[in-house]
Amino acid sequence: MLLDAEIKEQLKQYLAMLESDIILRCSLDDTQVSKDMSALVEELAQMSTYIHIEEGKLARTPSFSVNRPDEDTGIVFAGIPLGHEFTSLVLALLQVSGRAPKISDGLMDEIKGIKGKYVFETYISLSCHNCPEVVQALNIMSVLNPNISHTMIDGGAFKEEVEAKDIMAVPAVYLNGEFLESGRMEIEDILKLLGQNVVQEDNLKEMLYDVCVIGGGPAGVSAAIYAARKGVRVALLAERVGGQVLDTMGIENVISVPYTEGPKLANNLMEHLQNYPNIDLALKEKAIRIQKNQWIDIELSQGRKIQAKTAIIATGARWRQVNVPGEQEFKNKGVAYCPHCDGPFFAGKKVAVIGGGNSGVEAAIDLAGVASHVTVLEFLPELKADSVLQERLYSLPNVTVHKNVETKEIVGETKVTGIEYVHRDTKEQLHTDLDGVFVQIGLVPNTDWIGETLERNRMGEIVVDSRGATSIEGVFAAGDCTTSPYKQIIISMGSGATAALGAFDYLMRHG
Ligand code: FAD
Repeated sequence: MLLDAEIKEQLKQYLAMLESDIILRCSLDDTQVSKDMSALVEELAQMSTYIHIEEGKLARTPSFSVNRPDEDTGIVFAGIPLGHEFTSLVLALLQVSGRAPKISDGLMDEIKGIKGKYVFETYISLSCHNCPEVVQALNIMSVLNPNISHTMIDGGAFKEEVEAKDIMAVPAVYLNGEFLESGRMEIEDILKLLGQNVVQEDNLKEMLYDVCVIGGGPAGVSAAIYAARKGVRVALLAERVGGQVLDTMGIENVISVPYTEGPKLANNLMEHLQNYPNIDLALKEKAIRIQKNQWIDIELSQGRKIQAKTAIIATGARWRQVNVPGEQEFKNKGVAYCPHCDGPFFAGKKVAVIGGGNSGVEAAIDLAGVASHVTVLEFLPELKADSVLQERLYSLPNVTVHKNVETKEIVGETKVTGIEYVHRDTKEQLHTDLDGVFVQIGLVPNTDWIGETLERNRMGEIVVDSRGATSIEGVFAAGDCTTSPYKQIIISMGSGATAALGAFDYLMRHG
């Protein structure tokens, strides 16, 4: 039995939604992975009379395709889609059986209209939380357009391919045999890479908004909902709804939700937003300038402008880069930022973690479980992580900690082979041979675009008072982009609510 009772129970409910016959054509051999794959498809077939199994020969073994009786959809799973890819499997079954994918009619037409032959292959790891979005997007494209096919390839099951292609970060998408792109992507991003003219999905109007929220993370979404509940007209503009939440996996500290996952929470944020018809959305847009004139004028990256009586800036933060030679050059070739996603590619290999704060030490503990050895490099004389994490780190036999050292260069030829660092007191030059470097040195606020318009502290964080008000009347700020000392989801949501109530209070007084 590959599926536990709880998953089977959930699956039963999904499979009850199947609408027509599905053929799972399986290419199997004598290996254990093939046996497990066979057990999985058998279990699926036992749970729905719509699911039928056939033997066949596919490009990779073990793998299985998900087809209609008379139609090859092009969807193939090479390796077993459990872990984070289980949802991708369930969605593929539902969509191949006839249930429409949850995308707009415009996007659907766009995909159906794509001409030419597109053979996509996506290398994933089952612990990667960014991978399912790409796999699901490409599966939808395969279901909708017979010229498009997509194979999900579990890097763990096809190690030789991963090594031959030097893949060190997932998801890694190949198109017609050539590397296309790596990292998180939505359907619109993929269409743009194919040169499609994607129509912007938004409903922003030319009007004077009461509140314009800039940013779609927990702070921005919370601010928009709180403002909308006051009955005012709200515009929300964001590059991506979810913000940093999309970069994480298990979340256990959103009080009253004992466990959730980043992508799920991001979906919940989007659903909650869509309950409010008085919130107009401008997605995949960036604010590039904000100015107070008669109203607050916000300029967007694609040339549009928003005018509002109040604005709430909630543009969050991003991973800080170490900015040494080799970091850019070897990104995705050994330099990584997400241990959950890319850790499995360093199984049995040597890695370094730059940064000895909570995130660095957590990453090192996590990586020590898969890598043969982890070197932690901390700039300061002491680690800054919580003592409980430090104790756990020092108890691990395959971890070496170097404190008071400055990273100078990440070296390699086609991929990372080592790291150069120097002891800050003795000036001793040090080198460690390794295969990967995880940069974990904290966050930078996304506030560069604001320039001198608003007061920011030396770290670039927007200075706010207890109501979220900034140095400009009518402009409020919330979440990780502000001077709020703790950067957490629940705190961002709270400060978003505070800023929205602050903005509403301002509107009542100033009209
Ligand atoms: P963000 O989440 O950073 O959102 C910012 C938003 O602004 C995004 O929508 C972005 O696209 C948009 N944006 C940026 N610039 C612009 C611009 N110029 N114009 C328009 N839009 C823009 N917290 C917890 O409480 N629990 C956890 O378990 C947890 N785990 C984490 C794990 C990881 C790997 C990371 C990176 C963070 C984690 N956090 C966790 C922290 C938490 O995710 C953040 O505190 C929270 O997301 C901050 O919310 P925010 O809305 O302020 O900013």
